[in-house]
Parts: sequence; structure tokens; C-alpha cells
Amino acid sequence: MEIFSDVIIVGAGLSGLSTAHFLNKLGTASTIIEKTNRQGGVIQTFKEQGFQGEWGPHGFLDNTPESQELLHDIGLYDEAQHAPLGDFHRYICRNGRLISLPQSLTAVLKTPLVSWHGKLRVLADLWKRPHCENSTIADWVYYRFGQEILPLADAAISGTFAGDFTRLSIDAVMPGVRALEKETGSVLRGLIKKKRAASGKQLSHLPAMLNFPEGMEKLTTTLSAGKNIKLNSWVKSIVKDGDLWHIQTDAGSFSCNDLVMALPVNQALKLLASFKAPPVAAIPTAKIVNVVMGLPASARIPYGFGYLAPEEEGRFAIGAMFTSQMFPGRSPKSVGLLEILIGGRRHPERLALSDEEIIRQTEMDIKQLIPIPEPPLFTRVLRPEHGIPQLEMDHPALLEWRHKMETDLPGLHICGFGWDGIGMNDMIKSAKKTAAAVKAGGRRQPEDAVVKPVYF
Ligand SMILES: Cc1cc2nc3c(=O)[nH]c(=O)nc-3n(C[C@H](O)[C@H](O)[C@H](O)COP(=O)(O)OP(=O)(O)OC[C@H]3O[C@@H](n4cnc5c(N)ncnc54)[C@H](O)[C@@H]3O)c2cc1C
Repeated sequence: MEIFSDVIIVGAGLSGLSTAHFLNKLGTASTIIEKTNRQGGVIQTFKEQGFQGEWGPHGFLDNTPESQELLHDIGLYDEAQHAPLGDFHRYICRNGRLISLPQSLTAVLKTPLVSWHGKLRVLADLWKRPHCENSTIADWVYYRFGQEILPLADAAISGTFAGDFTRLSIDAVMPGVRALEKETGSVLRGLIKKKRAASGKQLSHLPAMLNFPEGMEKLTTTLSAGKNIKLNSWVKSIVKDGDLWHIQTDAGSFSCNDLVMALPVNQALKLLASFKAPPVAAIPTAKIVNVVMGLPASARIPYGFGYLAPEEEGRFAIGAMFTSQMFPGRSPKSVGLLEILIGGRRHPERLALSDEEIIRQTEMDIKQLIPIPEPPLFTRVLRPEHGIPQLEMDHPALLEWRHKMETDLPGLHICGFGWDGIGMNDMIKSAKKTAAAVKAGGRRQPEDAVVKPVYF
């Protein structure tokens, strides 16, 4: 027997749960179909012997109205731990040393990360013509800001995408910055103009990173409450017959008028390719390993959020979060906690190493940057099953394909990991738009090309 629901959402990760939440707010009920035996998707908190880490996201910024709305709606805004970027140092590894990133204009002028020549070259952006074609982030940064900014851009991109900025597309990753560049002829001029327009309207301050005392999973478990979720139901095929969608799972059949595919890009492509062939069968993903490391009080962890290392530093780890400083209470008293990221798009071969070897090489790497006189008290290697979708050069064509699918197949809505970005804020924003489109019986409004500040 087929179960009918007016709206069916495939995927009970953050995207699916947030879409259901915003639909509920608009007075529309939905059914969520989930392959696994738990909700939350890649969001999962690790807890063992008084240590708490994350399999997936470690934090998201409090600078997106849709996410703030969601947190207020579910009563988690006040419960969230806020780690303000303005209060903490962030470090870049350069020539084997951790150097604090500048947080003010004076500090930018003084920073040893870029020479005076390099700083003047950044200003040349004011006279550069807009870069016409889509290009890789590396090529674009080199053209606009010069050679010396490349390692900083590299670190920022590996910190968010675990990606390779010589492959990621500037148009796909930073559409807002590209729009600004085309509109005003220069990124710097555009940013100055924006700042002037905003002055008086809002205080310009750095946002805070959010997580919850019980870990990120608190968000998805709270969001799941009261939702109609069918767990252990793996969607195997989808058929459209007239106005109705028929969804076949390994646990039964469903039908609906509106179908929301809230899945990572590759999982959605698998189920939708039979309707219209996509420009690529799959996009690359970047898998990482997270080494959770508890350190004795004698370890001198620098004050701050953590560090990132550009590829040219040739280090084993992409970077580390100083979790015990960002979000206290995740390790026993006086024990420092680091979460160290390995692998990513550039080094999938490191994921094939044994846990013992990963721990050995990670310890060796970290000890060169942070004084750790005594051995770690705790180490665990977390190997998340899924990678981070990479928005590389074919991504704009993929977005066109999605647009065509949603236009030609009324009632189909596609959001989720890797479509409109990869961060939690991107997912919540897109979920709200998707819910509005379902309610209005139309297509999701295109994402605004907003300038997302880059925080390391
Ligand atoms: C290791 C890692 C670290 C990250 N760090 C950060 C961070 O620090 N900050 C940040 O903002 N973001 C971070 N992210 C990104 C963030 O986690 C994602 O934006 C978000 O969780 C994606 O949610 P989603 O629901 O779109 O996808 P998912 O979480 O992947 O959920 C999709 C769901 O669909 C289900 N599913 C798949 N196929 C089927 C099928 N055929 N039938 C039924 N169900 C199916 C899956 O089981 C899953 O539950 C990170 C991601 C990863 C992987």
C-alpha cells in the first residue's frame, strides 16, 4: 500500500529537517523519508571518557538571519555557546610557525604574513578589470590580489571545503563577491561601498561561532521533535505520474504532490538522472579524518580558535581547532582538547593509513607547532563516512540543470548539501526558500548573490 503525504522530503539531515520546520511554520505538514536509523545526516557528536568532539560540523556563524530565526523558533538560541571571532586569535602556519591573523586595519598593515610589496599589490585590485570568465579560486585570487595572498586563500578554502583552490570555481563558491566585482569593477571598491551603505544601519562587528553544550547533534535532535520521520527507508527510485510523485523505498511506497530532495548533490543526482541526464554523473567530494586529542595541562595551546596550514607548508594536518578554548566543557578539567583535520581533496591517500599511523604522524606534526612536553592523554580517530561536496568548475552547469529540472517538473524542489553552498547556514537559508516555494506552489527563488565574508 502506498502512503500519501501532500509533501514528502527525502533526507533527514539538517536540510530536510529545516525545510520541514519552515513548512510547519507556514502551516504545511510533511513526511520525511530517511535511509538510516537516525536523523541528523552528517551532524553527529562524539562523546567518550569525558571528551566531546564532532564527526561533522564544529560550528556555524551567528550572522545569518534564517539560522537565528530557526534557533529562536526551537528555543536553542540562548542555549548555544557563542565563541566570538573578535575575542579569539586565528592562526596561519607560515614557514613552520603559527602567526596570528590580523583582526583590525592597523594589524593588517603590520602583519608579517604579507610583505609591503604584497600589501600594495592587493590595492591594485582597485584598477583591475572584472575577471570575465568563471575560473578557479586560485587563478582569480592571483589575478585580483597577487601571489602573496594565495597561501592565505588556500588556507581559508581548505578550512571550509577541505578543498583544493586550484580546482574550486570562484563563480560557484563566491557568487556574491563576483557580483560585487562585476558591479563596481573592483572587489575592494565594492566592499568599501557596501560598508558605507551599511554604516549607521548596523554595528560592524565580527560574528561568533556557535555550537551547543551537548554538541551539534542537539540542533538536529531538537529539530526532529514532533516531525513525521520514516527512518530506515532508503529511497531507491522516483517516478512521476501526472501530478503525483511516487517514491519507492526498501521499506514501502509513498506518493506526494510536492517532493523535496534534501540530499547531498551526488545522492540527488543518482535518483534524478533518469528524468534528464545531468552534465556530470557525480561531483568530487573531500573526505577528512578528525583526530580528537586530549592534552595534559603542560601543553601550551596558543590562545585562539585554531590554525590552518596552506598546502605549500607541506604539513600532515590541514589544521586544528583548539576546541577546549572555543567551547569549554568538552574535556575533563585542565585537559586541553584539539580536533585535528587530515586528508581533504588533496590528500585522500592519508585516509588509507591505519589509526595508529595517523595518530603518530599527527602528533609529530602538531608538536612542531605547539609545545606538548608530555604525551596526549586521549586520542581517537574519527572517520566520517561522507565527504564535503566540491563546487568545482562544472558546478554552474549543474545549477542550470537543477533550474531546468525544477521548471520542467512542477512539484520538484532540490536543496541540500553542495547545491547552494556547503555550510550549515547555507543549508538553513536554502531550506527556508524551499519551504516558501512549496507553499507558494512554485519554484525556489534563486539564491541572492550575497557577499559571504571569509573567516578562517
Ligand atoms: C566532516 C564535515 C565537517 C563539516 N564542518 C562544517 C562546519 O564546521 N561548519 C559548517 O557550517 N558546516 C560544516 N559542514 C557542512 C554541514 O555539515 C552540512 O552543510 C549539513 O550538515 C548538510 O546537511 P544536509 O541535510 O544537506 O545533508 P546530510 O547531512 O548529508 O543529510 C542527508 C540525509 O539524507 C539521507 N539520504 C541519503 N540518500 C538517501 C536516500 N536515497 N533515501 C533516503 N535518505 C537518504 C542521509 O542518510 C542523510 O541523513 C561539514 C560537513 C562535513 C561532512
